[in-house]
Amino acid sequence: MTSVAELLVLQAEEIKSTAKSTAEIKHYSTLNNDCLDTTTGVYITIHGHFYQPPRENPDLDTIERQPTAAPFHDWNERIYYECYRPNAFARVLNDQGEVIDIVNNYEYLSFNIGPTLISWLEDYDLEVYQRILEADKKSCVRLNGHGNAIAQVYNHIILPLANERDKYTQIRWGKADFRSRFGREPEGMWLAETAVDYLTLEALVAEDIRFIILAPSQAQRCRPIPSEHTSEHTSEHNTNSPWQEVGGAQIDPTRPYRCFLKNGKFIDIFFYDGPISRDMGFNDLLSSTEHFAKRLGQAVRGDHRSAQLIAVATDGETFGHHKTGTEKCIAYAFTHEFPERNWTVTNFAHYLSFNPPTWEVVLKPVTAWSCSHGVDRWQDDCGCGGDGKWHQRWRRPLRNALDWLRDELIQVYQDTGSQFFHDPWLARDEYI
Ligand SMILES: [Zn+2]
Ligand SMILES: [Zn+2]
Repeated sequence: MTSVAELLVLQAEEIKSTAKSTAEIKHYSTLNNDCLDTTTGVYITIHGHFYQPPRENPDLDTIERQPTAAPFHDWNERIYYECYRPNAFARVLNDQGEVIDIVNNYEYLSFNIGPTLISWLEDYDLEVYQRILEADKKSCVRLNGHGNAIAQVYNHIILPLANERDKYTQIRWGKADFRSRFGREPEGMWLAETAVDYLTLEALVAEDIRFIILAPSQAQRCRPIPSEHTSEHTSEHNTNSPWQEVGGAQIDPTRPYRCFLKNGKFIDIFFYDGPISRDMGFNDLLSSTEHFAKRLGQAVRGDHRSAQLIAVATDGETFGHHKTGTEKCIAYAFTHEFPERNWTVTNFAHYLSFNPPTWEVVLKPVTAWSCSHGVDRWQDDCGCGGDGKWHQRWRRPLRNALDWLRDELIQVYQDTGSQFFHDPWLARDEYI
């Protein structure tokens, strides 16, 4: 196994060899100057959801050694060396395997980094942390003020299972953490496990979140927005646009959708391309840039629509950790393969800014990307996340116990908190 020290030496060597070929870098960077005055054609968005839970021992406020992560101290550190840092300094190689460019992938990825991970990164390697913030700024400049970073529900909580007050606090904390780092308001929010229901949508809209990203299997039906819907939501029987049933994940993911709520408000939703996203995470789609681009190309609709978005989403750790070295694949794609095909690398907020939804969608009542039984994966013996060798009947009593504890603590916090705060719940919302 390679030690940490050896890895650092390797990185330093490669960066040195890069410095020799600055002429080549100049040549390639000219290829990269997309003209974003146009709003037509094929757009590509690759979203990475980067997340680690808080691994710190709460007594020591430090992470203890995790032997399974050897030769690294713990899993955060291991994934940092395999993914978080390599994506900030991704190497572009020529046919001889020589480094000809170093690319900050965060400049081209649409991404969210969970607050419990980005705070660790800030402490662990300020350089990579700064590189991520800088990438968001550069993407804002390149994409008309719409940065690549989106917020995340703070503690990766399954929002449909949270009570109303906790939903709001999680969204507010996610936004506050985002603002403090990126210095702007988030336009979109990543939902943990893309878990969603209509009460969650109402909370997101009330907190000024403009869009979310879901799996295609979460949509129930869609149709072109009838003209009287564009200004105000009206009841179904006033319109004659037929609904298309897409409950089997058939929704066309190349356009955004508007989801109207009972209160007349709405949120916009992107559905990522399911099969391509799955093959990025679980097959060898990222083994070569050409292979990857060909597959994306097959998703392009040949029906002369003026603009379309090919969007994929997966765990950010796919790029380098789950799939070793694949940060190089996407770096080459962003800077060479996609521009050569005249595809524009963008993010959801930017695409939405010139391509607002002309279709509306109705979601299934309660869903998530990693469970086909609503959100039972986090409360019942549904079978998801196991291999069939053991049961998950412990989930229900565990969930009940945690919910009971939460409800008991509400009273304790309210009573005790009132002795110290005018409004204990406002104090909690502003704690971050
Ligand atoms: Zn996650
Ligand atoms: Zn399930």
